[in-house]
Amino acid sequence: MSPGFNQLGKDKPEMPKSMKPASPAIPLTLRKEHLSACWPEDFGSVAPLWINGAWHVHSAGTTMPCVDPTVGETLIDVAVASTEDLQAAVEAAQRAQVAWWQSDGQDRARILHRIADEIRLHAKALGMLDTLDSGRPIRDTATRDVERAARIFEFFAGTTDRLRGAVVPVQPGRTNLVEYEPMGIVGAITPWNYPLTNAAGKIAPALATGNAVILKPAEESPLSALLLAWIAHRAGLPAGLLNVLNGSGPSTGEAIVYHPDIGKITFTGSTAVGRRIGAITGELLKSVTLELGGKTGFIVFADADLDRAADALVFSAFNNAGQTCTAGSRLLVEASVAGEFVAKIADRLNDIVIGDPLEPATRIGPVISARHRDMVLAHLAAASSSGIKRFELRPRSLPKAGFYIEPSILLDVSPAAAIAQEEVFGPMITVTSFASDDEAIAIANATRYGLATTVWTNSFQRARRVSREARSGLIWINTAHSLHPGSPYGGYKQSGVGLEMGLEAIQQHMKIKSVWMQENAWRSPWA
Ligand code: NDP
Repeated sequence: MSPGFNQLGKDKPEMPKSMKPASPAIPLTLRKEHLSACWPEDFGSVAPLWINGAWHVHSAGTTMPCVDPTVGETLIDVAVASTEDLQAAVEAAQRAQVAWWQSDGQDRARILHRIADEIRLHAKALGMLDTLDSGRPIRDTATRDVERAARIFEFFAGTTDRLRGAVVPVQPGRTNLVEYEPMGIVGAITPWNYPLTNAAGKIAPALATGNAVILKPAEESPLSALLLAWIAHRAGLPAGLLNVLNGSGPSTGEAIVYHPDIGKITFTGSTAVGRRIGAITGELLKSVTLELGGKTGFIVFADADLDRAADALVFSAFNNAGQTCTAGSRLLVEASVAGEFVAKIADRLNDIVIGDPLEPATRIGPVISARHRDMVLAHLAAASSSGIKRFELRPRSLPKAGFYIEPSILLDVSPAAAIAQEEVFGPMITVTSFASDDEAIAIANATRYGLATTVWTNSFQRARRVSREARSGLIWINTAHSLHPGSPYGGYKQSGVGLEMGLEAIQQHMKIKSVWMQENAWRSPWA
């Protein structure tokens, strides 16, 4: 790798934004006021569950705190679902699902379109809830995330009257129909990093295919799913079709996975938990979709537009404080431009605003929790103890309260190093240089994950070669994080099983039935 990384990008005379003292966060009392303004009614100090089209005061009386990671204090307590609550949700879902599936697909489409419209109408509240409990900046939650959630519903609304079976040309005198049927109830379990869009990505395809949904959001970010359920009801979704049960993964989550009347599980989260859910569903022979972790190789060839590539890398790796399963956290850069490219990244990071995610200028907020912050810092400390050096970014004053982490660029990292193999899920990148196309592809593939690979080059042939040989479900060429609800999303290797989004998601939520009809008198082969 080129020497002298730390000498690059240090000679800027102007005062960078990062050196200004961090503004204090908006105080907790005001944050609570913002939260109250999001709800359609006054919940007092406990946010309820949503079961059978109504707010539900939990039967067991247990609650869990919902912490605002920007100030590190509890915003509100959230009701934890009991076994009885789960059973009530399952029974409501069973009742509602039959009529839903028997309804005209165009009627289902109309409701899903109305949900999309209502999501946009409630953009501010949905964005606010995600920012308050997950720390993701409001400039992203209330805009891009809300729009993506609405478009997910719109895409799947467009599929409800296009669900077709087939007629198979079998023996004369017989007709064979291939019919699609819903799974019944889909149990959806989501992580905390993009609460609204993850929920939308689970709910919309399940409803479009005639299923009912029981959703368990992550403990850390339970709020926007509750409002989304109310919004869907307001948009005309019949009671029982969408239920939100909060609680912890090992209790509420596993109870959903084990429930005999829940026909399919769709899970997004870590590979470790995905493996456990896969084992349980395997034992129960239950259908499952698993969207798991990643360790995206972000390959930059010397012939790329380095400025655009640097913009893309910074967005890819540091958006949402690096807490993105497709974060381009493994930079693989051609050795001849490595120093220049790292300097460009450093310049951009030095200017980025880190702070209260409720401030419109903020691009990087806190990470989700104290536990997660400590885990990310432990990864960085272990890398440092193993001799890995950091690029010295300009000193930065971060807010005192809250779970903030400074961005890091780790230099000269061996592809086999733990920090280059494990999903850190924080604002950091590792930098590894390569000397040939073969080497770049080999390093990109040398991980147990296979979610995404990004490549920047001006050579069409090189880009196509990477896209063919990279062992990952998503390939981004001269772009980063491009998504569309119509495009399938899923991982290779330990990044998952099955697909979300696109028409491919339809089959994942349906069973196929082969129906045989005999036109003339049937004769037994034994007759
Ligand atoms: P976890 O796997 O810890 O949790 C995800 C969800 O699963 C949470 O709702 C959690 O509940 C629940 N859960 C935990 N244990 C169980 C269990 N035994 N049975 C059922 N449910 C359980 O992931 P994180 O929340 O920490 O999210 C980060 C991870 O998610 C990263 O690894 C990231 O890569 C991955 N991810 C993948 C995406 C993809 O599309 N491939 C997208 C986004 C994230 P609770 O937290 O309430 O205990």
